[in-house]
Amino acid sequence: MYFEHNEKTKELQARLTAFMEEHVYPNETRYEEELNENGRWEVSTLMEELKQKAKKEGLWNLFLPKSEYGEGLTNVEYAPLAEIMGRSLIGPEVFNCNAPDTGNMEVLLHYGNQEQKDKWLVPLLNGEIRSCFTMTEPHVASSDATNIEGNIVRDGDHYVINGRKWWTTNGGDKRTKIAIFMGKTDLTAPKHEQQSMVLVPMDTPGITIKRTLSVFGYDHAPTGHAEIIFENVRVPVSNILWDEGKGFAIAQGRLGPGRIHHCMRAIGAAERALELMCNRVSERMTFGERLADRGVIQEWIANSRIEIEQARLLTLQAAYKMDKEGKKAARKEIAMIKVAVPEVALKVIDRAIQAFGAAGVCEDFPLASHWANSRTLRLVDGPDEVHRRDIARLELTQYQN
Ligand SMILES: Cc1cc2nc3c(=O)[nH]c(=O)nc-3n(C[C@H](O)[C@H](O)[C@H](O)COP(=O)(O)OP(=O)(O)OC[C@H]3O[C@@H](n4cnc5c(N)ncnc54)[C@H](O)[C@@H]3O)c2cc1C
Repeated sequence: MYFEHNEKTKELQARLTAFMEEHVYPNETRYEEELNENGRWEVSTLMEELKQKAKKEGLWNLFLPKSEYGEGLTNVEYAPLAEIMGRSLIGPEVFNCNAPDTGNMEVLLHYGNQEQKDKWLVPLLNGEIRSCFTMTEPHVASSDATNIEGNIVRDGDHYVINGRKWWTTNGGDKRTKIAIFMGKTDLTAPKHEQQSMVLVPMDTPGITIKRTLSVFGYDHAPTGHAEIIFENVRVPVSNILWDEGKGFAIAQGRLGPGRIHHCMRAIGAAERALELMCNRVSERMTFGERLADRGVIQEWIANSRIEIEQARLLTLQAAYKMDKEGKKAARKEIAMIKVAVPEVALKVIDRAIQAFGAAGVCEDFPLASHWANSRTLRLVDGPDEVHRRDIARLELTQYQN
């Protein structure tokens, strides 16, 4: 067993870290200020400039697996890079490695035909447009994707799409040009073959963006999470991804690498919180003593370090298993990290907030926004309880005769 990254990964880690220090962290505040000055839902010129810089340095689309579009990295190689990007909430987009675009690009890569790839994947890979994934619906428990009610009905050469979706990340972004709509094409088919995915250009008549939703008060502008109504939206039948009835299978395929990415970014957020906490407590004095010298604070630091290392190793193990044996074989490991890592990130960030005092809950430091973001990870891509159910079931299979 080798606990060391290869040379390619080490070199990318060093370059990414340098880029983050030079261009990303110093611009976090400026990014928010620019949104406040120019309109929170306007395209950020600062972000577009940073993207160009990253692209020029070859720090671009690093998430992309080996394909006709490039050499690509394995999950084990990419995971530590996602961690570095995840240290900043604006980091992943700078490198064109942000969810849900990464997952959508992977869907197009694996399940799109050449025409769909040329039209949507290429501009996404170039960072010229953005995309959204519309599955979750307000009226049904969407952690069980078989509940989805949005429908896709064939009418000659077209599909007619109706449904109400919400929590569509990127839905508020002016650059978002394409949606992957998940809905039902055949109510009589077996439970997991009723769903299909269809590409829907965002300028198709019948699409209404009703509102954007906030996350603990954060608007996540200019991308946002939108509630979207699809009313008699017509698209050519050639917009189907893979085939009718394959929506569930595509959704499953989309989630493996995405969960590794989410978890590694959350570990990055936790590392940054620990770093901020250690710096703060090394200087701050209460009752004649540095906070760093107090036993209780040292316990927070020690526990944070222990938990982060455990979470990272578990995630790298999941990435390794996925690389070696495939997504299906790594199902249990992926479910385990999806439960374990957000919990760790939340604990570490919460301790850092406590150590910062009131400063920890405001916008002057990235702790509160990282906490809010990490809290959503206990829900997105499957709530904790669903992953625990899967882990327990897989565990129990060994004991059944
Ligand atoms: C910030 C953010 C971004 C998102 N982005 C997207 C996006 O881009 N596209 C998209 O389609 N969706 C998106 N979502 C939605 C997300 O995927 C769903 O919220 C998630 O799948 C849960 O579905 P639900 O909200 O309908 O909860 P429900 O299905 O109603 O579940 C509610 C709760 O029930 C419990 N529960 C569920 N099943 C079980 C079980 N088997 N055993 C025990 N308890 C259980 C869990 O505690 C769960 O949290 C996003 C959500 C957030 C918060």
